[in-house]
Amino acid sequence: MNASPQCLNLWHVCETTRLDKARETLAAVLAEHADRLVGRFYEVFLKHDEASHFLSHSVVVDRLSPSLQRWLQSLATFDPNQGIEEFAERQRKMGEVHSRIKIPVHIVLEGASLIKSDVGEILLSNHGNREGATAIVLLNEVIDFAMLLMSQAYVTGVAQRAKIEEAYRLFTLGQDVSVERESQRAALLEWSQAAIFSLFGGAGGARLKPISQSEFGLWFRHRASVMFQGSIMLNSIDAAMKEIDEQLLPSIDSLPSLHGPDGAAPLVANLQARVEEIKFLLADLFQSLSASAGGRDPLTSTLSRKFLPSILGREVALSQQHGTPLAVMMIDADHFKQINDTRGHAAGDAVLRQIAEIIADNTRSADIVFRYGGEEFLVALVETNLEAALEVANRVRAAVMAAEITVGDGSKVHATVSIGVATHTGHPDYQHLINAADQALYRAKNEGRNRVIAA
Ligand code: GH3
Ligand code: MG
Ligand code: MG
Repeated sequence: MNASPQCLNLWHVCETTRLDKARETLAAVLAEHADRLVGRFYEVFLKHDEASHFLSHSVVVDRLSPSLQRWLQSLATFDPNQGIEEFAERQRKMGEVHSRIKIPVHIVLEGASLIKSDVGEILLSNHGNREGATAIVLLNEVIDFAMLLMSQAYVTGVAQRAKIEEAYRLFTLGQDVSVERESQRAALLEWSQAAIFSLFGGAGGARLKPISQSEFGLWFRHRASVMFQGSIMLNSIDAAMKEIDEQLLPSIDSLPSLHGPDGAAPLVANLQARVEEIKFLLADLFQSLSASAGGRDPLTSTLSRKFLPSILGREVALSQQHGTPLAVMMIDADHFKQINDTRGHAAGDAVLRQIAEIIADNTRSADIVFRYGGEEFLVALVETNLEAALEVANRVRAAVMAAEITVGDGSKVHATVSIGVATHTGHPDYQHLINAADQALYRAKNEGRNRVIAA
């Protein structure tokens, strides 16, 4: 860990007696105002949903207060001349804890900055300019040092957790997904049948078991959330389950009779509709999984765009480190809308597949082809300079123009593409490279399409 105590400059420039006096003053202020300062942290916690739920737990509150007070005190007693390791280790531990219990680092930084400004004000108004100012600089330096160590440990902790979570997600995906899909579909069905059965007194009028407590509910919370991480369909399923548990079931339960005009029929119909919705979303969820399995676009088998940041980021770094060239082609089908409109969507799909095939035929196995948009491909040409990249681009353009693409009904379609080419100029942000290729593509379109333009 290289948290350089260089940021603790005061100890180099200030004579010892003045420094000791400042520490004493600071310790006194921190002790006198401890409750109020701890309260500042609570304020920040309460403002943010990610942290506020901790304050509803009495064990945490009971421990948080004294531990924050101790931390405040340690700021004034800290003396780098006596060694920094013990203090540093405590800050790192705190950063690790924050990453484990998921208190984002920005919340802690916000709290620390409030402490700085509160204590600063007290020091200035009560302790004269020179003495107050020294204590303020001291507090700022020590807090900044603590925050530096804490955020380093926090970031490391979060990165490690993300790696492990991703490994677990991939592991779950390696299991037999189709079996999982069938068994969850069955579990859902079982719950809805049992619910309807008990509704009509079949189970001796037993209360309905919430769907969130069912086999399906458990699976959804503990497994689906990992397997389908980030999918917006998860939120929709969650909302449908909440509606069942929090609105439909309680209103069914509170009905005096299930029959007659006040009967449960409309509610039951509603319940069945929600279950249908979940079933539909579940099927979609699994389908999206198999489509993106392996990270390829199902239509063209090119790489999914979600990998672009990590792959292009890596290529740009390699190019930077080794001084090797790197080129990017942005390829867009010309008047593609017209092909769809006049020949049908399936013909459009066939054209996209053919373009992807032509790109693959004209690039090497180390080059990386992404489906960048609907009818747009992005190709990273590794260790390729501008001249060579233009040659590849022109080959692709000519091959697409020459291709007779056979569509479903046996008829032929012709298509052309426009291509923008850019090379890595040393800018560390890969987005810079994409933007340059995009601008070149834009010019290729403006200058009449079916052409290659270099950035
Ligand atoms: P330009 O030459 O300026 O690029 O014109 P364009 O018609 O190709 O561009 P525009 O962006 O207006 O239209 C792109 C169309 O591509 C619109 C969209 O419906 C269609 N498209 C996107 N993805 C697919 C797909 O997967 N299959 C099919 N068949 N069409 C798609
Ligand atoms: Mg386009
Ligand atoms: Mg287009």
